[in-house]
Amino acid sequence: MELPTAYNAKEVEDKIYQLWEKSGFFNPDKLPLRHKKPFTIIMPPPNANGSLHIGHALFVTLEDIMIRYQRMKGRKTLWLPGADHAGFETQVVFDKKLEKEGRNRFQIPKDQLYKEILEFTLANKKVMEHQLKKLGASCDWSREKFTLDENIIKVVYETFEKLKKDGLVYKGKKIVNWCTKHQTSLSDVEIKYEERNDPLYFIKYGPLELATVRLETKFGDTAVAVNPKDKRYKDYIGKEIEIETLLGKNKIKVIADEAVDPEFGTGVVKVTPAHDPVDFEIWQRHINEIPEPKQVIDKYGKLNELAGPYQGMKVKEAREKIAEAMAQKGLLDPAKTQLDYKHNVALCYKCGNIIEPMILDNQWFVKMTAKPKSGKLSLRDSAVKAVKGKKIVFIPKRLEKVFLHWMKNLRDWNISRQITWGIPIPGDPSGQVFDTWFSSGQWPFATLKSTEKGDFEKFYPTDVMETGWDILFFWVARMIMLGIYATGEAPFKYVYLHGLVRDKERQKMSKSKGNVIDPLGVVDLYGADALRMALIVGNTPGNDPVIYEEKIKGYRNFATKIWNASRFVLMNLDGYNANIKIQLSAKDKKTIKDFQKTAKEITKEMDEFRFYVASEKIYHYFWHTFCDKIIEEQKPRLYPLSPSGSSGRAKKEKAASQYLLITLLSESLKLLHPFMPFITEEIYQQLPIKNKRDCLMVETWFEK
Ligand SMILES: [Zn+2]
Repeated sequence: MELPTAYNAKEVEDKIYQLWEKSGFFNPDKLPLRHKKPFTIIMPPPNANGSLHIGHALFVTLEDIMIRYQRMKGRKTLWLPGADHAGFETQVVFDKKLEKEGRNRFQIPKDQLYKEILEFTLANKKVMEHQLKKLGASCDWSREKFTLDENIIKVVYETFEKLKKDGLVYKGKKIVNWCTKHQTSLSDVEIKYEERNDPLYFIKYGPLELATVRLETKFGDTAVAVNPKDKRYKDYIGKEIEIETLLGKNKIKVIADEAVDPEFGTGVVKVTPAHDPVDFEIWQRHINEIPEPKQVIDKYGKLNELAGPYQGMKVKEAREKIAEAMAQKGLLDPAKTQLDYKHNVALCYKCGNIIEPMILDNQWFVKMTAKPKSGKLSLRDSAVKAVKGKKIVFIPKRLEKVFLHWMKNLRDWNISRQITWGIPIPGDPSGQVFDTWFSSGQWPFATLKSTEKGDFEKFYPTDVMETGWDILFFWVARMIMLGIYATGEAPFKYVYLHGLVRDKERQKMSKSKGNVIDPLGVVDLYGADALRMALIVGNTPGNDPVIYEEKIKGYRNFATKIWNASRFVLMNLDGYNANIKIQLSAKDKKTIKDFQKTAKEITKEMDEFRFYVASEKIYHYFWHTFCDKIIEEQKPRLYPLSPSGSSGRAKKEKAASQYLLITLLSESLKLLHPFMPFITEEIYQQLPIKNKRDCLMVETWFEK
């Protein structure tokens, strides 16, 4: 047998993937009977609105390593792939596509818009599947799920019903984070904060003076508030004061609330419940004392009829005009205005527009901290209990603290969105859809309940959830809460969180910087094995991995090294018979023992999720020990100098040498397989070894 002179990754990788697919071993039900105990990973479904990027390649590699390793250890492995319709995210991508075409989603009939987005998404989904295969993903395609599959929606609706029955869902008027560009509400985690400098104005409210940035919302003021302990204003509390405004005389009540900071401005604040979440809460605490909220800004960020002459103006323009007019009327003291008052402004995480807090009717909320009627613990508390009780282990451990801290300050979750693209909320008259994280938060159990019969019983709870730490709150926290709530069990035992892929200078990759690495382009040039190694070596969980082309090239060279070494071993097997007992020298035995020690160490690293160490160890062993030392040392035994070459002793030496090389090669290939599955499988197919399996993929991992 002989391997071709040069390794052609492009040709081999496609051929080998087909071999695996044909073997059926991606499907746990088709694995040999010795694979008994399940090991399950549910793939985080990539958003089906574009091609896979380098971050996807990272998660595919990490999860494929875990799955391949456990499969070789004899586990009944299921890696369930999927694709996410990704509600708002996809809507944003699609909006941009429409914009380019000179169209606008608000002018397209709802049904047609939905159909168009569905077609767009399904086409992307197909591209993505092809790309996952290129990266070597050994997932079970027969169980692939899409977040809009009918039977997934059914499970999502069941959970929604259960939440309703348990009194954990309510509908109400609530202040939401509104993006005036995207025309939808956003959850608290979809908001980013930025420090800005804006003028802080001091304005007169009858006998009182107060400081505010948001002058334009004053038409929506329903009270002024002071701290109950603030002695300066105690005589005003509970009384109405007469005020002069731009629209004439008015009366307004003074209330006392703990939320007012006596140190801010004058210690008096205006209360505008329709346009400020803190004021909204103040109103809720004083619901009988002050009038209903008055909305003065519309969904497009413009002032409405309650603003009199300022109607139709955008916030910024109105603010400046109002400041002028008030100053003229003596209602604002320009001398006191702080021009560069520093404060945090909430922005839409997608478009960066300033969030306009707004009261919306018919909003759906899930109570996160209230007990369900049928149970003892709230969604939040049951998740915290599971994590504190080590039912779920975080890798790296430090992110457990971050998780627990965030859970402390959890507010009710607004799960309704005003976009077309998503799962409709049953019984919602205004046609809203669920927040996409409400459905993907149920992904581990929804997938297993909707695939083959018995899957849920067999594969749930799953073993590992591997994803980016940036979606710890968006997704992981919700999966833990909803998983425990709906099934009674934590959805996974380990949470492995990876970082954000960066370039050589540790910069974020972005199109504008021109430092983006297209994973599929790289696979085409250097092979998926090389990319996988480059993504794993040195990549510790929770930290940002660094990748650049030379690094990938380096592992392409490693693939060449593996190929040449294997070629050498296979070319020198003349007369070798795997069935004949070999007499090994003491040195041979020591060489094998040394390998076993290394293999044992690598196994330990694998078991403890330190793939970045395991991959480096096998790399060094193969290159610097097996190739540089062992092969070199064996050359005299393989090519004995005549005339003793034909003697019985020389033959025995040669046979021992051949045995040593083929054994160490095949065992090393096993250890390399989870990281570099294609080249190792291709060589394995040519090995003349005993008890060979159909694929290296189902070979037995090193056992001590
Ligand atoms: Zn936006």
